[in-house]
This record gives sequence, structure tokens and C-alpha cells, in this order.
Amino acid sequence: MRIAQQLYEGLEIGSAGSAGLITYMRTDSVRVSGEAQQACRDYIGQKYGVEYLPAKPPQYKSRKRAQGAHEAIRPALPLREPQAIEEYLSPEQYKLYTLIWNKFLASQLRPAVYGVTTILISAAEFLFKATGSTLKFAGFMKVFATGEEQKKQILPPLKKGEELDLVKLDSGQHFTQPPARFSDASLVKVLEEKGIGRPSTYAPIIQTIIFRDYVRRKKSYFFPTELGFTVSDMLTKYFPRILDVKFTAALEEELDEIEEGKLEWVKAVKLFYEPFTRKLVIAQRKVKKEVIPTKETCELCGRPMVIKWGRHGRFLSCSGFPECKNARSITTGVRCPQEGCEGWLVERRTRRGKMFYGCSKYPECKYAANELPQADSDGQAH
Ligand SMILES: [Zn+2]
Ligand SMILES: [Zn+2]
Repeated sequence: MRIAQQLYEGLEIGSAGSAGLITYMRTDSVRVSGEAQQACRDYIGQKYGVEYLPAKPPQYKSRKRAQGAHEAIRPALPLREPQAIEEYLSPEQYKLYTLIWNKFLASQLRPAVYGVTTILISAAEFLFKATGSTLKFAGFMKVFATGEEQKKQILPPLKKGEELDLVKLDSGQHFTQPPARFSDASLVKVLEEKGIGRPSTYAPIIQTIIFRDYVRRKKSYFFPTELGFTVSDMLTKYFPRILDVKFTAALEEELDEIEEGKLEWVKAVKLFYEPFTRKLVIAQRKVKKEVIPTKETCELCGRPMVIKWGRHGRFLSCSGFPECKNARSITTGVRCPQEGCEGWLVERRTRRGKMFYGCSKYPECKYAANELPQADSDGQAH
């Protein structure tokens, strides 16, 4: 979004001076001005030939009612080819501008035409089957192919009865793969499909779940943390209506209605807020009582220790509370590697929210590390 903002605000592009390269980028509108559409059609006709031009400009329907009067995200001038201004842009700006330019151009080209083919190949007593497509007309793929198009199984042109050579025989068993973890892109795609948030809120949503340590990014995928699982379990348990994806989408629609003056905001907020505050009080009372049993025993009275929720997150407490007031941080099961220290490593956070591992004997022991050290089954770090 930061790079898009730079393209929108304008950059120095040679002798042409400063120019805004794209339209406003916080939009989910599919509307394109007639002027831009015509400029694009002229360009396509000249560059690729009139056979790539649909008779009438394509009409796209928005999945949701588009926000306000904004146009779709498109290059300000369709004629301004990415290569022509590459030298004035940073690599990131160039990549993003190219993506926007390609998508806009492709949206104004004719569809691709495929032939769907099934090929049956007989060999001895076996019959092999291959299903796929043959590309008959490139259409918008002349500009770029989407991931979906790239996944299409393209078969070579074959004639009936043609004799084929065996190049390689690959025998393998295919297993159903579990769904992949979310990446930034796949998460945004689902948010979009379910009507949650808007283009301007996708980046803050992802920042928030990382900052609160509900998920951690490994390579480019999100993995839920134990805290993330627990928070999700509790929220769905106590706020099933709000955590229902349909609720968020419906709320977005209500906000649109308020914007259009069809719904009074005080009334809408009241309808939401009054039952919500009642539920919040009940949930807070119940979460405080919620305890998770552990195998650890209290070193003061011998009763089992339990996990409880406090103001600063989870902690270990003696199940004999309030008679026994023993409480400590939850350890990672790894001993403090400091010479002569009897402490355990515990998860802690800096004032800015970054996670690290510190010693349970702090402030006597000041050991701290960003990564949990490897440990054997006794928790001895090595
Ligand atoms: Zn105790
Ligand atoms: Zn220590």
C-alpha cells in the first residue's frame, strides 16, 4: 500500500516532470471511465491488432457494492508502458506498476479460447487418459496469464490414431494434500471472498494478528501460535455471532447503508453494542474462571498447578488458590543455559511487543535470547 501510495501521489518521470501513475488505490470498484477505456482500446488495436478487441468493452460486476465514486485501480495513462518509465522507478514501484498496468490491459482484451481435449492412449492392455486444454486464441493472455491460467494443463496438438513414443513411465500414488497454510495473498483472497474488510483494511488486519502473536510468519506462510489457538477458541465460544464470518460481511453492508443515509448510525450501533456489552461482561467473568490443568505440581503445597488468565496473559497458578498464592510464569520446558542458574526459560515480550525468551529468575539472572535454545528431554539446553 505504501508503494501504491507513491505511484498515486506522483513521481518524477524524466522531462515529463512529476506525474501520478495510477488512480486512487484504496478501492474495490470495477468501474472504469469511458475516456480511459477508449484510450486503452486504441492502444490494444494498435499494439496487438483489432482481433484482440472485444466488440463492446467488457462489463464487470462487483461482488459487493463498490465504495463511493472511485474508479478501479488502473494506470493513469494506459499508453504509459511500464518499460518506458522503468528507469525512473524503484524496482518495487516498477513491479507494482507493471502488475496494475497488465491487469488493466488484460481486463480490456478478449477472453482466451481453449479447446477441451481428452486423449486416450492405449498401450498393451492398458488405457491411459489425459485431460487438458489446447490454446486456440490467446486473448488477454497475450498480456499476462493469471495463476489460474498457468495451472491449466496444456496438451500438445495430436491427431487421432497418432503413434506415440514412450519417453518415461512414472508410477506414483497421489494423496490428497491438506489445505495449505495461508500466505498474505491467499488470506486477502479469502477475506475478499467472504466480504470481510476492504482493500484499505487488509494490511492492518495482517499486521494486527502478527503483532498480537496470534500467528507467526515462517517463510511466507502464517502459523497459528498456541495463544492464537486459545484466543480463537475462547472468542468462538463466547462470541459465536460476532466470530461468524457472515456477521462481519453484514456489518460492512450496514456501514454502507449508513453512508448512503438509509440507516441511522445511532440505531445501528445501539443494536450491536447493547447485547455486546452484556455478553462481554459475562465472558470476562467466565474467562477469569477458565483454568487449564497441567502436570506440574505446586512446590509449596503439592497441589496441581493450573494455567489461568491474568492481566498480562497466561500464568501458572496453584489450584489451591486462595489458600496457596503460589504463581509463576509458564516455562518453555527449557532450562536457562546460564552457568549455575536454576531458572527456566519463559516467553516474554519487550515493551514494543516483540517476543523473546528470558529467565524465570529475572532480575537475578538477565539471560535473554530471540530463539529458544535446543534442549534435550530433561530441558537441558545444549
Ligand atoms: Zn500451592
Ligand atoms: Zn537464568
